[in-house]
Amino acid sequence: MKKIKKILIGTHNTGKFREISDLLPSKIEKISPLKLKIKSPVEYGKTFKENSEIKANFFCKKSNLITISDDSGLEVESLNKKPGIFSARWAKNYGSFDKAMSKILKKIKKKDKGSRAQFVCSLSIKWPSGKIITEIGIIKGNISSNKRGKNGFGYDPIFIPKGYDKTFAEMKYKEKLLLDHRFIAYKKLEKKIKTFLK
Ligand code: IMP
Repeated sequence: MKKIKKILIGTHNTGKFREISDLLPSKIEKISPLKLKIKSPVEYGKTFKENSEIKANFFCKKSNLITISDDSGLEVESLNKKPGIFSARWAKNYGSFDKAMSKILKKIKKKDKGSRAQFVCSLSIKWPSGKIITEIGIIKGNISSNKRGKNGFGYDPIFIPKGYDKTFAEMKYKEKLLLDHRFIAYKKLEKKIKTFLK
C-alpha cells in the first residue's frame, strides 16, 4: 500500500480537528469535511468503536480519501459512565457545554460518590480500498469540584488527569495534546500504520 500523502480528518469539531491534525506528520496534507461540504453521519453506534468506524466509513466513502475519524467522550464513574458516547448530545440537549458541565457537577455533588472519570477516544483510519484499523485510548482522572481554565474545548474545564492538579483547560495546548486520550489512541494506531506515514 502507498504512503499517505493526503488525509481527510473526519470531524466537524474544530478542537478535535486541530489535535488530530497536529498528531499526524506535518508533511501530510489535511482536509476537512467542511471544505468538501460533507455533513456528519448519524452516530447510531452503541460504542465509541462503532461510532468512530461509522464516521470513518462515511467520510471515506463520500470523499474517496483516506480518512481518520474519532469518537470520544467523558465517562463519569458515579453517573454509570455517562455522558459517554452521548457527550456531544448532552451539550446539545442542555444548551451548551457550560450547562452540561454544570449538570455533571451538580449530579456528582448530589450523589456524593466521588468523582472518578475517564476520557475515551476511539480512533479509526479507513482506506478507500476497504481496509480499516481502530485503536482505543483512555485517560483516567477526576472531575474537579468546579470549572477551571479557559483553554481547550468541550469538557476540558472539569477534567483533571491522574497525576496532575490542573484541568485540561488549565493546561497549555501542547501539554494536553501530548497526554490525552486522542494522543494515546494515536500512538497505538501509529505503530500499526508507520510504514504508510514515513
Ligand atoms: P463526538 O465524538 O463527536 O460524539 O463528540 C464527543 C464529545 O466529547 C465532544 O463534543 C466533546 O464535547 C467531548 N470530548 C471529546 N474529547 C474531548 C476532549 O479532549 N476534551 C473535552 N471534551 C472532549
